[in-house]
Amino acid sequence: MNRKIALLSGILFLFLLEASADMYLVRNKKPYSTIVISSYATENEIKAANILEDYLYRISKVKIPIEKDNNIVNFKGNIISIGKTDLVPSDIKEKLRIDEKISFIDPFNDSFVIKTTKDRLFLLGHRDEGTIFSVYDFLEGLGCRWFFACEAGEVIPRMSDIKIKEINLLKSPDFAFRKHDAWDGHRTQKTIDAEMKWHQENKMSAETIKGLSGHNFFSIWPETLYKDHPEYFPLVDGKRIPYGQRCLSNPGIIKSGIEWADKTLQKHPEYEVISFIQNDGVLGFCRCEECKKIGNFADQNLYLANEVGKVILEKYPDKMICIMSYFESARIPHIKADGYDENKDKVLVEIYTNFAKTPFNDLVQGWAKASHNLFVGDAWQWFYWSWKNPGRPTSYISRLQRYRFFKENNVKGIRTITKAEWARHGLSRYLSAKLMWDVNADIDKLRLDFCEKMFPSATTDFYNFISLYDEITDGNIDLREFLKKGFFFLERIKKQIKSEEEKKRWEFYALYLHEECLEYKMGLAETEKEKYKVIKDIISFLKGTEDLGILESSQRIPVIYYEHIKHLTGGTDLPEIASMEVSSKKIEEMFNKDKELFKTSIGIMQRKPL
Ligand SMILES: [Zn+2]
Repeated sequence: MNRKIALLSGILFLFLLEASADMYLVRNKKPYSTIVISSYATENEIKAANILEDYLYRISKVKIPIEKDNNIVNFKGNIISIGKTDLVPSDIKEKLRIDEKISFIDPFNDSFVIKTTKDRLFLLGHRDEGTIFSVYDFLEGLGCRWFFACEAGEVIPRMSDIKIKEINLLKSPDFAFRKHDAWDGHRTQKTIDAEMKWHQENKMSAETIKGLSGHNFFSIWPETLYKDHPEYFPLVDGKRIPYGQRCLSNPGIIKSGIEWADKTLQKHPEYEVISFIQNDGVLGFCRCEECKKIGNFADQNLYLANEVGKVILEKYPDKMICIMSYFESARIPHIKADGYDENKDKVLVEIYTNFAKTPFNDLVQGWAKASHNLFVGDAWQWFYWSWKNPGRPTSYISRLQRYRFFKENNVKGIRTITKAEWARHGLSRYLSAKLMWDVNADIDKLRLDFCEKMFPSATTDFYNFISLYDEITDGNIDLREFLKKGFFFLERIKKQIKSEEEKKRWEFYALYLHEECLEYKMGLAETEKEKYKVIKDIISFLKGTEDLGILESSQRIPVIYYEHIKHLTGGTDLPEIASMEVSSKKIEEMFNKDKELFKTSIGIMQRKPL
């Protein structure tokens, strides 16, 4: 019914409107609802309420009051109940299995409900983390997006009325652990905080599995044991070597491993797993007769977990034992985790994509026949090792397409490892977060949504611009072609954009192309002097833009570019380089200059490609 006609029909209209009403949270620029939390609200529940209040304010410029559930006299309008309030009906509690203790490895831990009843909206999770997820998910329903952990990638719609239709959702992620690590720990505090926030906005896991450890054979069985127990150490080329891995078939190793696990779990009752993680590197896997009898190096790790588990899991039935499949142990095992056939096995296997000795999908499939609890570590870029490579625009879509396969093969958690360079591969990180929740999410639809929300006035050209990332990743175009086409589409986008937000996003990409342009020039530089000048420009750029989330700066500068300068000047005195000025005017000037370089066939275009 249309409003104009309805006004004429008076009371009858009002009745009809109520019967089929949308639920208003904000109406006519005034609050039309109250956010309600428990009078015993936890820190995360209060946080969830504050997040909702903040974003609803940013959407509508209206502040919705927050009240405690024991303060009914203050409730006005519709009620938005956050977390475990007295108002939550029993059917929602049952659905969310509120009072049930769920294993840490079960994705249901992060499930949440968004449900409307007559004049109420309920947002809550099985755990309080889930309540925060329910708020962010609800805000996404209103049109908010957190594509990147920086201003350019945040989308907040503007509305004077906020109204919702009937909602009845129970969401549960496909993986219990969803992590996206870009914690090089060297960027500015602003970008680190933004990264943390992005994790939560995209419903990634707040914490990793408790008790998960790095390589630790060397601390469980230190090398000092070699003097009295050379038999604990690996037999390599006929000799027991005092380093590398350990001789895992040795009963003394098993016995001391059990003692160490027991002691550690007593000290750390909060641990969910006890980790037996082989030492790093390729060296020192034991080749003694007893170890060979167990099987390959994957079998040897699993044998250790089973033997330790016989005692430890008896005493600590809620825990699991964690091992790693990496380097020489990245092989398909022939034995199974104890209890596998009854689906009661408790060995968590971390499998890393790098240095695998077996094609990765085969490896995961192989392990899925030995354990129901796998955890994939997917290194897009292994920090520290790849710093010297500044990286090109990249699309990691082909990696994301494996998530469904992972889910079907007992993978309970995924951890990707990369750099926080949102202009370079931000869309892939965002899509990864979405697919970690729902392996069946439609990547094409999500990409389109990204383009529509980022540039509502220039969606098609931005879609074409973003497609260049796939082209260069697939090797169909080189950096020169990427830049040439990139400038072409950015110029078209510039002519169409209408809002301040679009302008900021356009500047974000224009700045990024400027840096890639400098990288390109560095590849072409023929004299030391030319090279030196470009490097100084790059450093100046990275310093000036370090808070904008475009590219990581504080590792790139010392590890890549200062090293270049040292090499060029032969000195260790590094020049003071001022930060580049980043203003709208300056960005536009740079853009106009950069794009010209790729328009003609003269000059830079004639030189050798990178
Ligand atoms: Zn051995």
